[in-house]
Parts: sequence; C-alpha cells; structure tokens
Amino acid sequence: MAEMFYDDDADLSVISGRKVAVIGYGSQGHAHALSLRDSGVDVRVGLAEGSKSRAKAEAQGLKVMSVADAAKEADVIMILVPDQHQRGLYAAEIEPHLNKGDALFFAHGFNIRFGYIKAPEGVDVCMVAPKGPGHLVRREYSEGRGVPVIVAVEKDATGNAWALAKSYAKAIGGLRAGGIKTTFTEECETDLFGEQAVLCGGMSHLVQAGFETLVEAGYQPEVAYFECLHELKLIVDLMYEGGIAKQRWSVSDTAEYGDYVSGPRVVDADTKKRMKDILTDIQSGAFAKRFIADQDAGAPEFKSLRAKGEAHPIEATGRELRKLMAWVSKDANTSDYVEGT
Ligand code: NDP
Ligand code: MG
Ligand code: MG
Repeated sequence: MAEMFYDDDADLSVISGRKVAVIGYGSQGHAHALSLRDSGVDVRVGLAEGSKSRAKAEAQGLKVMSVADAAKEADVIMILVPDQHQRGLYAAEIEPHLNKGDALFFAHGFNIRFGYIKAPEGVDVCMVAPKGPGHLVRREYSEGRGVPVIVAVEKDATGNAWALAKSYAKAIGGLRAGGIKTTFTEECETDLFGEQAVLCGGMSHLVQAGFETLVEAGYQPEVAYFECLHELKLIVDLMYEGGIAKQRWSVSDTAEYGDYVSGPRVVDADTKKRMKDILTDIQSGAFAKRFIADQDAGAPEFKSLRAKGEAHPIEATGRELRKLMAWVSKDANTSDYVEGT
C-alpha cells in the first residue's frame, strides 16, 4: 500500500513562511495561485510579457509580474507552463535567480526525469501533482474539499524538502483528499504510459477503429457514432463510480457476455506486448526526445497529426448530432474550446 499523507501530517506554516511564485496561469496555475492565496500564503504569479492570462490573474486580485521578477522575489518557484516550454523559460528567466535554499516545484516530472531541467546545487526539487484538471482542483478547494495529489521529492538539498512539499500540498487542498508519496520517475513514466496506452491514445483510436468498422460495413455514421463514442460516457461514469465490476453489473447480460468473449479478441497478448514497447520508449527517453525535437522545430509532426485527427469523419458526424442533444451541455470549465477549429 502506498504511503499516504493527510492534513494532520503537514504544517501549513512551512509554506506560509516562504515567498511563492506560480509561473503560468492556465489550468493548474490559476488553481494553485488562488488556493495558495486563500490559505494565507504569500504568492505572486509570473507571466511572460503580453501574456493572455495576465488580465485573468489581475482580475482575481493576484500580484502579477514578469517570470524573472517573480523568480527573483520568491524562494519557492512552482513551474506551471506547458511541459515543452519549461526548459527554455527555466534557462532564460528562472535559473539565473535561484539561490541556495530555494525550492523548485513541478506538477509533472517530465523535465526533471528526462534531464531537460537540472536544478543547481543547494536547491530543493519537489513535486505536487493534483490528479485532476486545474478547474476541478480549484472548485474542490473552494468547497472545502480537495483533489488527491501525488507528492515527490527529487532532491532534498535543505533537509526540509518533504515538510515543504507536504505543506504546499496542504495549502492547495490536496491533503484533505490525501497525498500519495511517489518519485518523479514513477509519476512521470506512469502518467505518460496511462495517457498514451489507455486514456488518450488507446481510447481515441479504439473509438475511431470501431466507428470505421461499422461505417465501412455500410452502417449509417450517425448510428455508429452513438454506439462507439456517445455511449462511452455512460460506461466510463460507471467505471469511475464502482470499477469495471459496476459497469458489468449495470449493462445487460448480453453486453456483459460480449465483453468477456469479444474484448480479448480486440485487446490480446499482442496488444499487451505493444503496450510494453510503448512503456520501453517512455522509460528510455525515446518518446520525450521525439516530442521535444518536434516541438523545438515548430511542432510540424504534432500539428499535422492534430489536423489529421480533426479531419476524421467521426468529428463531422458528431458535430451535427450534438446539435440535436441540448443536454450535452458545454462544461463552463472548458468553454474556451471552440468546435471545429
Ligand atoms: P497550461 O497549458 O494550462 O498553461 C498555460 C499557462 O502557461 C498560461 O498562463 C500561458 O500563458 C503560460 N505559458 C504558455 N507558454 C508559455 C511560455 N513559453 N512562457 C511563459 N508562459 C507560458 O498548462 P497546464 O496547467 O495544463 O500544465 C502545467 C503543468 O501542470 C504541466 O507540467 C502539466 O503536465 C501539469 N499538470 C497538468 C494538469 C492539467 O490538468 N492540465 C494535471 C496535472 C499536472 P498565456 O496565457 O500567455 O498563453
Ligand atoms: Mg500527463
Ligand atoms: Mg448498445
């Protein structure tokens, strides 16, 4: 059983005694900055010149400054910009302002695990990674609850890094739900594997392949969309509430029997072998290298794959069908998303 931390295991005064900079004000950044402030922590937000998020942070009454000034003023620096931009920003605006005894914080282990960021001697390196999107992290905090967090220390230079990491986790509400002790390596490798093999990569390609199979066999795309994509939500909600067992309990006996006999024909020993290959590419750094090289070149591969995904016929079918379903409401937290762009 993993080692867990709760509110009683952490002392809020550790982080309250520090000056914290939250770099970035997106999904995670806004949740961390606002909840730290509401927990009584001295927090400032670091943003690039002309940043689109500046007005949002200022409207919330937060102190906003340049990334370099925030890093200079603070002694705890939480980096919450997209992973592929962290390395450049760190080298240019954060590293020059790090002093012995400062702490660098992350919400994902990518840059430390793959060596894109190397903290100087004497600096603590910690992770507090909420296991949920930033908007949920903030909402739960505001309602007196919290989203579980993962807590790790890569480098305990001061001897105080664990107390500091737990204190930060408490200040964003994470220890109300519970903190799981892990390492940068475990967090990073399992996070990448989960999103590639199961949650994002596995799932979107499973849905597309199912849709294609039905349409190629002459069935109507609208009907295929309902059977292979729309109903997924009901299945996932049941799994979320009570595991695979509750999902199987809820569906018809016909569906449950089909699960047992046909599921293994889709996901077989060969699929698992390829999952292991994916994990190997994550562990070796091959995936990280390919992602960062493409990003550094202006993301040509990323952009062309994104365009190809958006052009898949399931998207156009879905856009039309969702117009018929008023109850498929837009989530206020994701209202920045514009369909078909
Ligand atoms: P976002 O994409 O939401 O971050 C956007 C913020 O970063 C904006 O304020 C943006 O400014 C700023 N930004 C973007 N590029 C740069 C740059 N080159 N220089 C300076 N600022 C920049 O990030 P997330 O919150 O999704 O992710 C942050 C970290 O949290 C990552 O390490 C991620 O892995 C981790 N994480 C994310 C989760 C999530 O739910 N999203 C969950 C758990 C961990 P502007 O407004 O000007 O564009
Ligand atoms: Mg991830
Ligand atoms: Mg059905």
